[in-house]
Amino acid sequence: QTTLKAKTKDLYPDWKPGEPVPYAALCTTFSKIEMTSKRLEIMAHCSLFLRQVLRLTPTDLQTTIMLMINKLAADYAGVELGIGESLIMKAISESTGRSLAHIKNDQKEIGDLGLVAAKSRSKQPTMFKPKPLTIAGVHRGLMGIATVEGQGAQGRKVDGIKKLLSAADSRTAGKAIDIEKDKGGPSEAKYIVRTLEGKLRLGLAEKTILVALAHAMIYHEMSQNGKTPSTTDLAKAESILKSVYSELPSYEVIVPAMLEHGILNLPENCALQPGVPLKPMLAKPTKSITEVLDRFEGKDFTCEYKYDGERAQIHFVAHDADMTMATEVPNAGKSDRGVSNIFSRNSEDLSRKYPDILGRLPTWVKQGTKSFVLDCETVAWDKVEKKVLPFQQLMTRKKKDVKIEDVKVQVCVFAFDILYLNGEPLVNKPFRERRDALHDAFVPVEGEFTFAKYDDTNDIDEIQILLEDSVKSGCEGLMVKMLDGKESSYEPSKRSQNWLKVKKDYLAGVGDSLDLVVLGAYHGKGKRTSWYGAFLLACYNPSTDKYETVCNIGTGFSEAILETLHQQLSQIVIDRAKPFYTHSSGNKDQPDVWFEPKHVWEVKTADLTLSPRYKAAADEVSSGGKGVSLRFPRFIKERDDKKPDQASSSKMIAEMYQKQESVTKTKGPSVDDDF
Ligand code: ATP
Repeated sequence: QTTLKAKTKDLYPDWKPGEPVPYAALCTTFSKIEMTSKRLEIMAHCSLFLRQVLRLTPTDLQTTIMLMINKLAADYAGVELGIGESLIMKAISESTGRSLAHIKNDQKEIGDLGLVAAKSRSKQPTMFKPKPLTIAGVHRGLMGIATVEGQGAQGRKVDGIKKLLSAADSRTAGKAIDIEKDKGGPSEAKYIVRTLEGKLRLGLAEKTILVALAHAMIYHEMSQNGKTPSTTDLAKAESILKSVYSELPSYEVIVPAMLEHGILNLPENCALQPGVPLKPMLAKPTKSITEVLDRFEGKDFTCEYKYDGERAQIHFVAHDADMTMATEVPNAGKSDRGVSNIFSRNSEDLSRKYPDILGRLPTWVKQGTKSFVLDCETVAWDKVEKKVLPFQQLMTRKKKDVKIEDVKVQVCVFAFDILYLNGEPLVNKPFRERRDALHDAFVPVEGEFTFAKYDDTNDIDEIQILLEDSVKSGCEGLMVKMLDGKESSYEPSKRSQNWLKVKKDYLAGVGDSLDLVVLGAYHGKGKRTSWYGAFLLACYNPSTDKYETVCNIGTGFSEAILETLHQQLSQIVIDRAKPFYTHSSGNKDQPDVWFEPKHVWEVKTADLTLSPRYKAAADEVSSGGKGVSLRFPRFIKERDDKKPDQASSSKMIAEMYQKQESVTKTKGPSVDDDF
């Protein structure tokens, strides 16, 4: 924290108490962060800046945090950045008076639109000095750009971007900048453009901002009594904010509460609430039942069916409950019993997709049940055969504006956990208690709502039979979960050791399938000449905020899929690789076209190997720049419930590779003993 020896007042001298936070002040901090890769320094820069916001303009704290995490609103509000390159280039050209050809040329040369904007702005003669940008103004402007819809939306987006860019760098516009040396410095235009692209590329993880906020807040509070926090105070503040945020991941709710009650009193004032979706708990893959038994040795655990549908979190507050929903979503389910919301794995609002679920929900809620948050899987249901249908059936449902009367694919909700019940968060209770509470609070209705099937056995033969039964009934395998003690609590957003997934089809293979981002493609040959014939895929490295290539893939695609992919992907072609793509520089390794990072695909592989051509997890496996790559990758399906930064991480790929290597070395090829 103190490593920087900077005084908060030195950070941005022009900003006076009570004045809106100047956007240039944030950019100065961004620029300092960009210049270092040391995590502690990055955190100190963030924290110093936030202390200044707290001291001078606390009313802007929440907006400041949102711009730092590069989001305009909570995920359930559905406001997306990620504006395409062509619109941004048009706006840069029109706002700086440079021709589009010049801008495109610069982009080809520099490869970072943010720097292209900074350079263009610095070349622009300044007739008059526009009013400096403020954080609140930039947030408002970006919100307008992101939410404009309907006829002429593209044009209005360009106008919105132009407006921001014309006001950017009012102090420095017209002054030459050295792109090479200072990377465009704290240029506002640079960060506006990167924010619009949806990637700040500062190596600034959201977790770091959360910790920096906790530190800044405790510094601020204690300094008002003339004190400085000790390491213990900092750690306490950090742990409080992390735990509150994991239950209530909404700066909109937390920041005002923190400013009102102080960080140390947050737990009493901010806890899990219906209306704010939690990040779901995730499971670790396992390769064999024996691995499960090793992991849970001596502990009681349960094996549940792993249903193959879509994760859903259902929130409900009855009219006669002592509370209301913490936030409102526009299409919430409303009945004479109460209000209900349904959220995706990514905390997106699914109420326009599942009005049928929200409509029926009151019939499964027992009379005494007044408020809850359920963790479930929605699965396509065959009404005639009375059984679950494959995931592909669920995919055929419309994603938005579904009308109940038009629903063709019925869904059944399989509830497997309850995180909140009748005014009380349950996440810290043992799973056995949560499961009892779940079963007590609802009434199953065939084909509409039921509980995940399970068996609390630790007998290897019984687990084997359950696994086979689950697959026969159309499930993917089992989810094995710890039942008692602290270890069995619900860990939001964690991929936990206490939840293990056992999928039948990876018992003999390399482990879980991978979810990878499509970065480029190769033109097809022979029968595939009209489409792309193969694609370049990458994993995501959250600590560097980069996509690292992992394989080329050309198997698993039907002709119909190739045609659809060609239509989809040709719309997001870009002139060259983004600067946050890491791939071999060899000429023959380059794809014919590059894409914006948008689509995530599920892919299976035979095994993993090292290759100089790809860069996945190269740092983690430290093998002289070689990356981990997939052998014989096969396309399974699109994962449109995942965003690119939720793709498989480099760390996970490194772990898979290392696991495979150790198995190969100690036991020969990785064949599962149980099958
Ligand atoms: P991950 O979510 O782990 O990144 P993924 O989205 O590909 O990967 P899987 O690896 O297939 O999902 O497994 C986890 C998912 O299984 C959960 O997110 C949930 O949607 C689903 N699921 C089905 N049945 C259960 C169950 N009984 N308990 C928990 N999750 C279940």
